[in-house]
Amino acid sequence: MAAADLVTHSLQKWWESVMVGKRPNADSQVAATAHMENFSSCEKISKEVDRVLNQRGKYWYGDSQADIRGEVLRYSKRNGYSAQYFADAICSCGNREFQLSLDDNEGAAVRRCSKCGIQHAIGDSGAYLDDAKLEECGCPCGNDDLEITVGVSLYANSEDVRWLHLGCRCPQCGLTAVYGDWKCEFVGYDLLLQKV
Ligand SMILES: [Zn+2]
Ligand SMILES: [Zn+2]
Repeated sequence: MAAADLVTHSLQKWWESVMVGKRPNADSQVAATAHMENFSSCEKISKEVDRVLNQRGKYWYGDSQADIRGEVLRYSKRNGYSAQYFADAICSCGNREFQLSLDDNEGAAVRRCSKCGIQHAIGDSGAYLDDAKLEECGCPCGNDDLEITVGVSLYANSEDVRWLHLGCRCPQCGLTAVYGDWKCEFVGYDLLLQKV
C-alpha cells in the first residue's frame, strides 16, 4: 500500500474519532467517568475513577494509557454500544508500544511490538485475517508506535461480546482516539480480552 494511502487512512480514522468525540460548548477539559476494578487480565466497570482528557483545538490528549479508557467510553456511548470491560495490550516482552494494522470492515487488527517485533492478532482477529485488508495506523504527528487498549460491550445479561472498540494513545504527543470499532460476537469477554 502506498504511504499516502496509509496517512489518509490514519487521518480518516482519527478524524472520525475526533468528530464523534467533539462536544458542543466543550470547555478545555472533559472528565470521562469510568468504573473499574482489577479483574485478572481485564477490568470490570464497578468503581468510579475520573479520567481527564485534555482538549487542544479539535484533538483529545491523554497523559497515560489509562486515559484511552475514557475516550473509548465516551466514543462507545455515542454509538450505542457502551464499553463495559477493558484490557491493555502488553507484549510478552513487557513492552506496551505497537505498530497497529486493522481492517474494521472485516473486524481484524494486528499489533507488532515496537521492541521485539512479535506480531499478534488482537482478540479473535486471527479468524478474519484471510479476508482482511489490513491498513497501517499511525498518529497524525507521524509517530507509529502506539499504546493500545480494547473496550468491549456485552449483550444484556450475558458475558458474551457484541461490539469491540480499539483505542490508542500516542506516547509522543498524547493524542488519544478510537482507531477502529466493529461488531465482534465472541462467547466470553474475559477470554477475548486475554488475547488483546
Ligand atoms: Zn515485544
Ligand atoms: Zn502523536
